Amino acid sequence: MNTANQSYDPNNIFARILRKEIPCKTVYECDHVLAFHDINPIAPVHVLVIPKGPYVSLTDLSARGSDAELAALLRAVGIIARHLGLDETGYRFLANNGADAHQEVPHLHIHLFGGRALGPMLSRKEPA
Ligand code: 5GP
Repeated sequence: MNTANQSYDPNNIFARILRKEIPCKTVYECDHVLAFHDINPIAPVHVLVIPKGPYVSLTDLSARGSDAELAALLRAVGIIARHLGLDETGYRFLANNGADAHQEVPHLHIHLFGGRALGPMLSRKEPA
């Protein structure tokens, strides 16, 4: 998946959540951002932070989005982390972009993980 050129699918699952066709457990919302709990969490805290605009990936948002949308997305991560008390213990945020990163939902989303020791970033057993 080349997320720089991929056209946006308005029927992806997060677009449907934004249209309220599918429910979610909202943790944060502002003009540009919605954040909600992941349906299949892999940490005690696993929140997805998404732009409200139709962007496939960070590549896409950085090419077409406004500075306000970019700033709001990153600011939301910090606000939510503070709100959930994660800045005390630490947390991780990441975004899977494209095929090598195993992006499954083609709407940009930042995963915010916390609530336990998260281990190293990538397995050292994998080839570089
Ligand atoms: P990706 O692999 O694209 O980075 O992550 C997609 C994430 O979306 C996964 O962690 C998956 O559990 C989550 N997810 C998929 N469908 C839904 C849904 O309908 N609701 C919520 N809240 N999360 C979802």
